[in-house]
Amino acid sequence: MWSTLADKALAGTAISREEARTVLHAPVDDTLALLDAAFRVRRAHWGRRVSLHVLENAKLGACPEDCGFCSQSSKNGSPSGEAPIKTVDELVDAARRAHAARAKRYCMVTATRGPSQRDLDTICTAAERIKAEMDIELCASLGILTEAKAQRLAASGVDRFNHNLETSERHYEKIVSTHKWSDRVDTVRLAKAAGMDTCVGGIVGLGESEEDLLDLAFALRELDVDSVPVNFLDARPGTPLASYPLVEPGFALRALCMMRFVHPRTDLRVAGGRELTLRSLQVQALYPANSIFTQGYLTTGGASLESDHQMIRDAGFELELASGEAVPADPEAMKSVARRPSLPMARS
Ligand code: SF4
Repeated sequence: MWSTLADKALAGTAISREEARTVLHAPVDDTLALLDAAFRVRRAHWGRRVSLHVLENAKLGACPEDCGFCSQSSKNGSPSGEAPIKTVDELVDAARRAHAARAKRYCMVTATRGPSQRDLDTICTAAERIKAEMDIELCASLGILTEAKAQRLAASGVDRFNHNLETSERHYEKIVSTHKWSDRVDTVRLAKAAGMDTCVGGIVGLGESEEDLLDLAFALRELDVDSVPVNFLDARPGTPLASYPLVEPGFALRALCMMRFVHPRTDLRVAGGRELTLRSLQVQALYPANSIFTQGYLTTGGASLESDHQMIRDAGFELELASGEAVPADPEAMKSVARRPSLPMARS
């Protein structure tokens, strides 16, 4: 069964919604067979390469939106008003650390409905300096865009724009009221039209149904996105979803395998919540997924750079750089790479 799905995905035949649903229900005895099938698809397009992505929270908190999972919303306890944005020098320094960590991609993120002129100027100036100085792919995640803002970002050297759909359109209304799911789709289309790659994923564990998760997977396929980050809810104190449980690790793996079959060629990332949700199974996520975030997330810490390099090396995988070159993971060398500064809202 799983091998047939891999054959279909490799032949370029879209798997059906019912086949995707079957993956979510795979029995535990089939775990290795399912991972093997997903890995055949992943290997055909990405080999044994893993790309590391590093996030930089350029503007923390005070967001006017009310996303129910997010601790950066002023509706969920973050201060209100206009938060400061990091300086261009700080953003360039963080890119240097990401480059030294052998990350393929560095992503500047602001907590915001959409970028103000000040924020856009800062991000674009930083992007120009980073692109002139080092070989690293650049991503930005700045909320809702206009056509002119999307074009400015693309012109400054931003390669990819992130704007997650989070969940199905139906479930989104239960999680966010200050903007619509369709607003997010519009921004993804503007980013694509401006010539940027699109990174669009979601969060598993928002109380969604199986139908919602399948809707998300197939909506992303319809949008033909370049990258799909799959996050697992790490419920934050003070948010409306604070009491939501962690996703069961076996289900998390099946969700990643389902996403790989639905998105055979896509840059599939096991994203936020990886460490807490998958625990000892983290390495297994590398069989469907070809990329991870390292050194933590926007407001929470995560696995260290050394341990991520070690995991990749131990599993016999290798790193993919922005140049396209594949190099060995090197936990020893990572001991001398500067630490990411501690996060002001990090988990204690
Ligand atoms: S997810 Fe983004 S838009 Fe929503 S509250 Fe958090 S920072 Fe704001």
